[in-house]
Amino acid sequence: MRKYVIMGVQGSGKSVQAAALGADLDLVHISVGDIFRWHVQNHTKIGAQVRRTMAAGELVGDDLAEAVTAERLAQHDWNYGFVIDGFPRNARQAEFFLESYDIDGVIFLYLPDEEVRRRVLARRLCSGCGMDYNLIAGRPAEEGVCDVCGGTLVTREDDTEEALAVRLREYHEKTDPVLELFRRKEYVVTVDARPSKEEVQQEIRKSLGLPPHKD
Ligand code: AMP
Repeated sequence: MRKYVIMGVQGSGKSVQAAALGADLDLVHISVGDIFRWHVQNHTKIGAQVRRTMAAGELVGDDLAEAVTAERLAQHDWNYGFVIDGFPRNARQAEFFLESYDIDGVIFLYLPDEEVRRRVLARRLCSGCGMDYNLIAGRPAEEGVCDVCGGTLVTREDDTEEALAVRLREYHEKTDPVLELFRRKEYVVTVDARPSKEEVQQEIRKSLGLPPHKD
């Protein structure tokens, strides 16, 4: 059983790296942001509660974030373990998490803020199937159209200059202390997020003592 937390600022490639780590090691990728986005897209009660907060780049309340995370982990579909992305995001969530789950490691993807801006503002999302694109590195074959399902590509509502500035500030204020807490427990491996996706993945595995990635 392997249980990891993946941390890093928006645009550092957390979900791509978590998914690649999960694919051949059979680890379930749990993204708290994706769960909230699903609620917004499907107009659920939770979606109505979080939509504006998310669009402004602010953090959803701890009670709700903890409840959603606990409920997802309680599904216990992670026989071989999980990689959780987007949680914990502040000191309180970190305490809640450490009380309930023992973890094997924290992957910290390091990306300087100026690179974050460049990447995030080029990010697009398929409104049909949720597939991620990036106009710098992962352009679709036809502009504005999803390669997989033909859906329309849209900008995430929180990928604007204003919301990004709020998110970066929130991140440094609230998430940096979580990293410090995990560092004190010697859980953290730091990986530079600037090289290619494949290089970053191999570096994560090397740092955690895991077998190299195979397609
Ligand atoms: P992400 O996709 O991880 O960037 O998350 C998108 C948005 O979902 C964040 O900007 C928050 O509004 C919300 N969110 C995701 N995870 C959490 C969390 N652990 N605590 C509070 N809000 C969260």
